[in-house]
Amino acid sequence: MKVLILGIDALEYNRVQEWDLKYLKQKEYGKTIVPISEGFGEPVTLVVWPSFITGTQPQQMGFDAPIIYRQPLKFFLEKIYFPLTSKKPKSEHDLSIEEKTTIKNKIISRTNYLMMKIGLGRYPERRDIKVPTIFDNKKYRSIHINIPVYDQIFTAEDRDSARNGVIRAITDKTFRKEFEKKLLDELKTGKENIFKIIKQKNWDLYMQYFYVLDGIQHVFYKNKLKIMDYYMQFNKLVSEITKQLPKDTMLLIISDHGQENGLHTNYGYYSSNIKLGLKNPNITDFKKIIEEKIENK
Ligand SMILES: [Zn+2]
Repeated sequence: MKVLILGIDALEYNRVQEWDLKYLKQKEYGKTIVPISEGFGEPVTLVVWPSFITGTQPQQMGFDAPIIYRQPLKFFLEKIYFPLTSKKPKSEHDLSIEEKTTIKNKIISRTNYLMMKIGLGRYPERRDIKVPTIFDNKKYRSIHINIPVYDQIFTAEDRDSARNGVIRAITDKTFRKEFEKKLLDELKTGKENIFKIIKQKNWDLYMQYFYVLDGIQHVFYKNKLKIMDYYMQFNKLVSEITKQLPKDTMLLIISDHGQENGLHTNYGYYSSNIKLGLKNPNITDFKKIIEEKIENK
């Protein structure tokens, strides 16, 4: 059996339910348990995706924060500084994105930016992933496009511009248009990849990642209609993929976390076109399932 994975950043379970997006639901769907990065208090893209593709928790996978510090700075920051500076919200959505940006994220992102600038920290790269991924299995052929960390899509520059881009796009109307245009380009290219590769015979596992929904929901969190429009586009995309899907192919949709009011929620999302019989699975459970499906065990 082949496996096609759509990695959709920030796809929120509650929106799929609310708008009854049946193609995104498929035969089986639900929330997943995802790692929460300490000091950040939320699931972080650069940690959750590597955990998913390795089927291991961050500690074992290689890193549990979206930055690799040099020792002994690592110890000081993670054990002393971040716990002190990060104000823990009383509830998940206690803080608005602006508040969150000014309090916790600003401190951490300023610190991180400074550390990177003086060479004491850097973004994680493929070599920091210490265990084999689903793409390293030599028993089958893999194609992977834009997988965070593994495919290096977020270079230091991208990450800074993505973070600053989100913050700037919230307040600056002209820039907001540019920001959305970039996300639309990513969506378009991703769709083109899928419809090209789906016809090829040179893969058993193909994973395509999309960032777009995360950016849209951070920036346009007050504009529910716009968010709905993007969710509908993904719903339609899945319906089109299903029509062209090669026989005997599992279609798995995965997200690293959801979003409510512009903030990450503390669970992910999965859906599958075949019954898996899972109940509130951990995002690290899927590696084994994927490999077994491909190897027909
Ligand atoms: Zn995000």
